[in-house]
Amino acid sequence: MDYHFKDMDINSVIEDVKNALSVLVKDKGLTLITKESEELPKINADSQRLEQVLTNLVSNAVKFTPEGKSIVVKSELVNAKDLKCEDCFAPILDKLEGEYILVSVKDEGIGIAKENLLHVFDKFAQIENSLSRKVGGSGLGLPIAKQLIEAHKGAIWCNSEEGQGTTFYFAIPVVTELQVIK
Ligand code: ADP
Repeated sequence: MDYHFKDMDINSVIEDVKNALSVLVKDKGLTLITKESEELPKINADSQRLEQVLTNLVSNAVKFTPEGKSIVVKSELVNAKDLKCEDCFAPILDKLEGEYILVSVKDEGIGIAKENLLHVFDKFAQIENSLSRKVGGSGLGLPIAKQLIEAHKGAIWCNSEEGQGTTFYFAIPVVTELQVIK
């Protein structure tokens, strides 16, 4: 895959995806709420690739959330040491250091059982439940998202309560002065 990295603002990606998916969200009777932190530092990223990742996460949230509920997309600045996750993702988060832009997509959908959390990033994974089978899909969205985020030296993971909802997170390193000098 080829990448076009440049210094960019994550909130423009969130706005583009919100606009692109507004009809899908409305047709399903859902509400998409965005909570964008203002004046976030820039990241060095491929905006189209991040759009691809966020589109996948929001489309999944739409698929697995019943009518009348909300999806919240949020951007914030975090330090890696303050990130929390389920034990299965700890080895992934332990590799992160310093400041990151964290994007989260929170839904109020069917959720994912704890034992399946890590496996949704495996190729062709489709959790055995009637809804996954009914709505269909390639089972490739999340493995590709993982590949794209890792190309940004970032991380992607999720947390969920079955029957309550799921939150997907991805973190992209902030551009530091040191990196610019190098
Ligand atoms: P697909 O194209 O099948 O949706 P993905 O790789 O995007 O492929 O997702 C893999 C599987 O992970 C889905 O089939 C579903 O079982 C589960 N999944 C992904 N996102 C969610 C979500 N927001 N809520 C519940 N289950 C999810």
